[in-house]
Amino acid sequence: MSNIVAIVGRPNVGKSTLYNRLTETRKAIVDDMSGVTRDRHYGLAEWTGKTFTVVDTGGYVAGSEDLFEIAIREQVLIAIEEATVILFMVDVTTGVTDLDDSIADLLRRSKKPVLIVANKVDNNQLLNETHQFYSLGLGEIYGISSMTGSGTGELLDETIKHFNEEEPEVSTLPKYAIVGRPNVGKSSLINALIGKDRNIVTPIAGTTRDSIHIHYNQFGHDFMLIDTAGLRKKTKVKENIEFYSVMRTIKALEEADVSILMIDAVEGIESQDINIFHLAEKNKKGIVILINKWDLIEKTHKTTKAFEEQIREKIAPFTDVPIVFTSVTEKQRIFKAIEAASKVYENKNKKIPTSKLNDVMLPLIESYPPPSLKGKYVKIKYITQLSGSSPIFAFFCNLPQYIKEPYKRFLENKLREHFDFSGVPIQVYFRQK
Ligand code: GDP
Ligand code: GDP
Repeated sequence: MSNIVAIVGRPNVGKSTLYNRLTETRKAIVDDMSGVTRDRHYGLAEWTGKTFTVVDTGGYVAGSEDLFEIAIREQVLIAIEEATVILFMVDVTTGVTDLDDSIADLLRRSKKPVLIVANKVDNNQLLNETHQFYSLGLGEIYGISSMTGSGTGELLDETIKHFNEEEPEVSTLPKYAIVGRPNVGKSSLINALIGKDRNIVTPIAGTTRDSIHIHYNQFGHDFMLIDTAGLRKKTKVKENIEFYSVMRTIKALEEADVSILMIDAVEGIESQDINIFHLAEKNKKGIVILINKWDLIEKTHKTTKAFEEQIREKIAPFTDVPIVFTSVTEKQRIFKAIEAASKVYENKNKKIPTSKLNDVMLPLIESYPPPSLKGKYVKIKYITQLSGSSPIFAFFCNLPQYIKEPYKRFLENKLREHFDFSGVPIQVYFRQK
């Protein structure tokens, strides 16, 4: 069940500071190195065992200064439509501004839960000043300091109260989400699969309708497609097309078993694509990458391989993902893409019997044991696959805390080599025995 928390508010109130605190992106060293964090405005967060996606809305309007107010108002409307809970952030050090008032006007008309977050309450005196925000007419005020984290616990306690409850599974069919940036060919792919021109596909980014579920049952395949294509509303600000599509993508991803990530061959893989990839990976979703519009690329016999290598480099360290080169308009390898998605689904739900797992893995471990640490030797005794909606392996050993990241990766790679988990994030844990 997807729960999305959107942080809205005017610039400089501290939205991205809170976002960073909730998602702890500063710790994401790998992402920092590849320069991904710079334009990432959504990520996973957790509070008392509940995970949710946080969206920092402000990030999407960089560069459109004269359109700032329009852009922000639009984002608030999108957030109202798409988010589960809206955190409306204001700044206690500046008080209520005109823009705060106009955002509050929009929020008062929505039926979504809105919490007013008075930020920069760095000390107790400032807490008294938060009362002024009652004038916004939106109820309770949560005074926090994004910088120090004070007050955020109470805010999150309240936030999660508004979350959607886990819904019983309506359909047991595999769910594949078709995701990707606007204009990569998502609607065209759906049309090609469904055969009827259900949507009017136009060359303008994001002109298709709402995200919906489509039942596909042909040629021996039976699954649900979650279609994210689409901007129902016209937006006045270019960046908001991206923002809207991100909100849709997050929802679809969380619902899906496998995400079919479409990338435009002409534009290549960009940071937004990698962000979607990481979100799918973190959510433990199966992933298939389609390089679409392959017909537009001038090719030699080396092109595919070079392209593939470039993609794998960008998505590292999780590179064991099927990549299919498609042309939706030329109807090339569309079926192959579907086959790849169902193989990934199969891999995701695969259970390796304990005996087989141990027969294969123990000899490998024996010939390449974990390096000793401070004179201590780690002995892995047996391995078992735990039950879960994606593969989780527990390695039982005497000193679990002594096993470091490189050896963990070695084990993951061996599991992948021997059992085919292509397209599936796997988790490896070490347990005391
Ligand atoms: P955004 O534009 O709403 O995303 O705001 P930022 O997160 O970029 O923050 C704007 C400025 O306010 C930065 O200089 C932050 O360091 C500062 N800031 C954010 N949170 C706090 C806080 O809790 N207390 C204080 N004193 N400053 C803060
Ligand atoms: P969406 O925004 O991701 O749903 O993208 P659309 O399906 O609306 O496609 C955007 C544009 O790209 C349309 O003009 C499509 O005809 C075109 N398009 C989609 N797939 C391909 C392809 O494989 N090759 C070429 N040349 N154009 C494509």
